[in-house]
Amino acid sequence: MGEMFKKVLIANRGEIAVRVMQTLQQMNIRAVAVYSQPDRTALHASVADEAYPLGGVTAAESYLRGDRILEIARACGAQAIHPGYGFLSENEDFAQECRDAGIAFIGPKPEAIRAMGDKVLAKQTMQKAGVPVVPGWSGAMDTPIDQIRAEANRVGYPLLVKAAAGGGGKGMRLVKDEYELQAALEAAAREAQAAFGDGRVFLEKYIARPRHIEFQIFGDDHGHAAHLFERECSIQRRYQKIIEETPSVALTPDLRAKMGDAAVKAAKAIGYTSAGTVEFLVDDKGNFYFLEVNARLQVEHPVTEMTLQQDLVRAQILVAAGQPMPFSQETLRPIGHAIECRICAEDPANSFFPSIGTLRRYRPPVGPNIRVDTGVIEGSTVSVHYDPMLAKLIVWGRDRREAIDGTLWALRRFVVLGVTTNIEFLQRVIAHPAFARGDLHTHFLNDHPDLNEKPAESPDLALIAAAWVSRHAANTGAATNGAAAAIDRAGPWSTTTSWRVG
Ligand code: ADP
Repeated sequence: MGEMFKKVLIANRGEIAVRVMQTLQQMNIRAVAVYSQPDRTALHASVADEAYPLGGVTAAESYLRGDRILEIARACGAQAIHPGYGFLSENEDFAQECRDAGIAFIGPKPEAIRAMGDKVLAKQTMQKAGVPVVPGWSGAMDTPIDQIRAEANRVGYPLLVKAAAGGGGKGMRLVKDEYELQAALEAAAREAQAAFGDGRVFLEKYIARPRHIEFQIFGDDHGHAAHLFERECSIQRRYQKIIEETPSVALTPDLRAKMGDAAVKAAKAIGYTSAGTVEFLVDDKGNFYFLEVNARLQVEHPVTEMTLQQDLVRAQILVAAGQPMPFSQETLRPIGHAIECRICAEDPANSFFPSIGTLRRYRPPVGPNIRVDTGVIEGSTVSVHYDPMLAKLIVWGRDRREAIDGTLWALRRFVVLGVTTNIEFLQRVIAHPAFARGDLHTHFLNDHPDLNEKPAESPDLALIAAAWVSRHAANTGAATNGAAAAIDRAGPWSTTTSWRVG
């Protein structure tokens, strides 16, 4: 059994870097940050016990520079690297280079990353292990188009062309009939080649109005594997998750047990170690199909942590140091309900275009059963270079109703001035009657266009704005007869400078 690490480098930024550091520090392990030029004053660099510059501005010049990161890890004496999610987290070469350098990679083995990084290979592996997969076709890229057309007819329309190396919804094309097939194949292959340097694509039956339900899995080097129950991630925009929750209202105990078994089978089929996620699509008849394995800690892992009262990062660290995982299937008993909202600097009224600027006010809510994993503080700059996610709001309740009420309460009190955010949009989704009914599927946002209509200003926001204006007026010596008057005269609504409300 390995010695516990004394120092760990976090090869990431933003909320996930901060979140990993918090656990490291609680375990009395020194946390080492690396940062790009624009992140010189970023929160993750100041939370760390040591911080080293990577140089560079873009991700490719900084957080994707595995060579630089390994050099820093060696120089500062870090015994392990936590990759967070995104960036190098599912890069099998980087995981292998860490291993070769004698530095523990806090994540799955390079072999498991490789086996799951290729969606075609992953589906074949899962099928062999007896896990149901979405029907489809895959074959050599020089297969004659007539033959592919025949295969497509067998699969049936509508179908999806997907990239073998895909991720983040890239290289995916919906094909409604055979006339669209060839163009879609070419477009998807081009997009995949550009995004992943790998233009291989395959066909998959398009499941109508599915739910996206995934299972957290965990394994160690002592032959243990377990699932940590499900997360429903059906609220998506352009194949990207926005709101996640656990448990899913769609799973009966029987279906949950079946899917959980399939997830553990999947983990065992590839000898999976550390934290991972097995994604499934579930149709309206309760059929479930394997989609892919995400070989990393997921963005939405906190909802699982809240209902199981486990720290998944701690478990990852223990396992990477050679210890057995700190739970077993029998000891895992979820309690209550948890919902996560991704708070992003983007403008829902303008096609969710990223919003950049300086955070003039940043006050996340505080209250019972509320967790905010944040990557920024007041004064932070939100730039174009990285993901626009500022923070994640996670709320726990004894049941779903309580979690929904708590989430709405917290969203109303989440103050962000300086950039436009999706907070009001999230409020509208969570408050929607269909959401309350649990009537969720991956087309939820498209099917409810009313979510895009901006309602009249909410009283909470008016109050926040009023407080800001009266303070501002006081600071600048302007006479004001109370907040309401301030709003009427020179309210933020008439201001056209760089800040906006929520
Ligand atoms: P990526 O790795 O690019 O995120 P995934 O395979 O995980 O792609 O799929 C992302 C999302 O795309 C799913 O959550 C789902 O909404 C949709 N999707 C993927 N495959 C299918 C399918 N066969 N039928 C219907 N929707 C799908």
